[in-house]
Amino acid sequence: MPSANLESMDDHATSSEVAEAKQALRVLEDSLRDCSRCGLCKGRSQMVFGAGHPRAQLLFVGEGPGFHEDRQGVPFVGQAGKLLNELLEGIGLTRSDVYIGNVVKCRPPENRDPTPDEIAACSPFLMEQIAIIRPRVVCTLGRFATKLLADTNLSMTAVRGKAKARELAGVDTIVFPVFHPAAALYTPANRRVLVEDFAKLRRLLDRGLEALNPPVSGEGAGDGSGGEKSDDGSGDVGSPNPSGGPRLPVPRTEQLPLW
Ligand code: SF4
Repeated sequence: MPSANLESMDDHATSSEVAEAKQALRVLEDSLRDCSRCGLCKGRSQMVFGAGHPRAQLLFVGEGPGFHEDRQGVPFVGQAGKLLNELLEGIGLTRSDVYIGNVVKCRPPENRDPTPDEIAACSPFLMEQIAIIRPRVVCTLGRFATKLLADTNLSMTAVRGKAKARELAGVDTIVFPVFHPAAALYTPANRRVLVEDFAKLRRLLDRGLEALNPPVSGEGAGDGSGGEKSDDGSGDVGSPNPSGGPRLPVPRTEQLPLW
């Protein structure tokens, strides 16, 4: 069954731009197959590059491959991946609508945390992926991706479900941290929080960058925000689409919390 917003998730890039991005990702992936830039190369079965739509508007970034990912070469295929699939389904998306990557591309032994050196060695490749994919929203899964991409030392509890505008690899993005799905596998309270945050993520995707601005006050009236009227006569204000596609819809009555 096609996902609810597949067309609007897809139509920001032309088919030739998608093909170009796919090819660029393939070249980058091939260049990393034998990467030995950090010690994680020693224990891996294979490097796990990432997977999904080459010009996804929504990029998920996790921590690093686990046991199953290392064996299969695909990110988020274990229990946490199953939960991620369910969360995506809950907001009308599938994995083919989004792109999923990790802070480090090789499995840390015994699933230990990646070290700062390993993150420093591997994160430039994630930035290259971001430069190619040009996502509108980057959803960080857990503290390592959040620390790296939102540039914060605040706790996950403090920043989860909040949006932050960030330029990453020359791309204007909105970073949106949520708990890592693994943290919700055996903790129903965390699972509820994730479901809540994914509902916010859906709204963020629907509203684009304007979700960061105060809601428009007064139907169809200028509010001094510098916005423009849409062409459809509805009084909606459109925000420029960073990918150059159609203008994005705007929030009217609700905004996402920022930090
Ligand atoms: S984790 Fe990244 S930097 Fe380290 S060996 Fe794997 S691909 Fe290379």
